[in-house]
Amino acid sequence: MYDIIVIGGGPAGLTAALYACRANKSVLVLEKAAFGGQIPYSPKVENIPGFLSLSGNEFAEKLVDQALTQGAEVNPCEVLSIRDNGSAKTVITDDGEYEGKTVIIATGANPRQLGLPKEKPLTGKGVNYCAACDGMFYKGKTVAVIGGGNTAVADALLLSRLCKKVILIHRRDSLRATKVYHQALAQAENVEILWNSQVTDLLSDSRLTGITVYNNATEKEQTIALDGIFVSIGRVPATALFQGQLVLDDSGYICADESTATNIGGVFAIGDVRTKAVRQIVTAVADGAVAAHMAEEYLAQ
Ligand code: NAP
Repeated sequence: MYDIIVIGGGPAGLTAALYACRANKSVLVLEKAAFGGQIPYSPKVENIPGFLSLSGNEFAEKLVDQALTQGAEVNPCEVLSIRDNGSAKTVITDDGEYEGKTVIIATGANPRQLGLPKEKPLTGKGVNYCAACDGMFYKGKTVAVIGGGNTAVADALLLSRLCKKVILIHRRDSLRATKVYHQALAQAENVEILWNSQVTDLLSDSRLTGITVYNNATEKEQTIALDGIFVSIGRVPATALFQGQLVLDDSGYICADESTATNIGGVFAIGDVRTKAVRQIVTAVADGAVAAHMAEEYLAQ
């Protein structure tokens, strides 16, 4: 019986483990893929206070080392379901069942992908999913942002302040983004919008060199040379296995406020999987510290 079982070994989950271990709790971290969550996909991370620059892989390794050094146990396995037995929870995985007095969910959210064949191999080599994280690497360059929602427009505006040129590519003839963004977009001189357009191919040598774009209205295809693209077509929270058990919002995120408490006592949700305004490494690790503290309080009761 562990005091705390953490599901998900990204920055949020590993920080929760670190804080809980330092509070002398027994902690098991379960992770189905690579430890570090989304971070290993970033070639460089430069927005963590105290670190000028390090690779995503390096940061992920440091996170795991730190949690292990403090006494966390880790197991690479996939969680299939959770059973709430009141004072204890059973976490059922593809590697057996684990009992915990509390559970901290840190399963994250994955960027929705375009689904193009070269998308995965070019990720971090010109294909990006986070303008706030990776925009700085395209200073003075030409990039495209794909999408027409608030994130895409906010990303295009952010990038317009860094890049020589930004091309916003949207599959329809009007934006889903709220009106407040439209004027700012119209005033950004270096942003061009391609309406009714869909990216059909990614061009590359060792990294992305351009894209082909199909116009649904004119039925014409064109090739555009680019230094990078930012895919901003929404995110998919990893919450499928909690459906019907935990309260989720309309987009599928686990409803939990700053206390990280969910609708089930002793179950906490942290990082990108939780309802929140800003999803960044620093907000995820802050959640980890909060959840460890809240779990401690729950255990003390
Ligand atoms: P979103 O609102 O779901 O928009 C996704 C956009 O991507 C839509 O324009 C959609 O096109 C497009 N899209 C989806 N799948 C696509 C595909 N396969 N190929 C090409 N385009 C595709 O997602 P979001 O912009 O990430 O926003 C998520 C939530 O966060 C929203 O509720 C948003 O309001 C909120 N948010 C708010 C702010 C703010 O400043 N208040 C900032 C960022 C995000 P269609 O329009 O054709 O469906």
